[in-house]
Amino acid sequence: SHPSLAARTAVVTGAASGMGAATARLLAASGARVALLARRTERLDSLAEEIAAAGGQALAVTADVTDQASVDAAAKAVHDAYGPVDLVVNNAGVMLPNPLADGRIDEWTRMVDTNLTGALRIVRAFGSDLTAAAAEGRTADLVNVSSIASHVVFPDYAVYGATKAALTQLSAALRSEFGPRDVRVSAIEPGLTDTELAGHIDNPVLREQLGGMFDAIPALAAEDVADLIAYTVSRPRHVNLRHLVVLPTRQA
Ligand code: NDP
Repeated sequence: SHPSLAARTAVVTGAASGMGAATARLLAASGARVALLARRTERLDSLAEEIAAAGGQALAVTADVTDQASVDAAAKAVHDAYGPVDLVVNNAGVMLPNPLADGRIDEWTRMVDTNLTGALRIVRAFGSDLTAAAAEGRTADLVNVSSIASHVVFPDYAVYGATKAALTQLSAALRSEFGPRDVRVSAIEPGLTDTELAGHIDNPVLREQLGGMFDAIPALAAEDVADLIAYTVSRPRHVNLRHLVVLPTRQA
């Protein structure tokens, strides 16, 4: 647990499962108030109950980051309950691999709209909270969960990789706006991590291929990434871990 997180108010997107749920749990266990955003209300409700039962504070907010009205409503719900936030974790994401030649514009659109534009909608909704918190002398963080796929080409994961490369680049660009205003921006790039992410792959060959990777090497756990995020945002406020690449030790 990280004592310096006790006074923080956080928003975590994609908090229904995987890294987002693990991050929300850890931030709450460290004393932060955490707004949980994702589409699956039941998952969020049960996580909020679990956090409350453990003595923490959490707010379940059903939200679809691809839907501007939904993000606007979520921002209002968070502000009504908690006021301005000072920690934003852009973690919601989808990974839908297929050969580019298949022309799956449905998957491409969904990945761009979730992984990139979704993150931008969240920055639009909460960015001014971050700069205001920093202007008051408080610690303020934006954490973007990108991927090793932003640097390494995985065949048939072209559009996913492109959205993550864009998110990493966006993080650097946002830092140039936010850094001089004392808001930290961090891009985290995990490798193979055991979550629900692969569950949406509709190509049986690619699903089996990824399953084979999980069989071959011990993957990261969602909690491993959560721990890094909590570490990053609990440094002294003049210390910005800008770019973290974290892979399972045995990943090639
Ligand atoms: P999960 O599938 O477990 O988590 C993804 C989360 O995003 C879910 O909670 C999902 O909840 C939420 N989400 C998806 N679409 C939307 C949407 N439109 N609006 C709001 N929330 C949404 O996988 P991970 O924990 O692995 O994924 C977290 C992040 O980590 C992603 O950005 C992923 O790209 C990245 N990543 C994952 C790696 C891995 O190996 N697992 C490696 C590198 C990066 P719901 O469906 O309820 O909306």
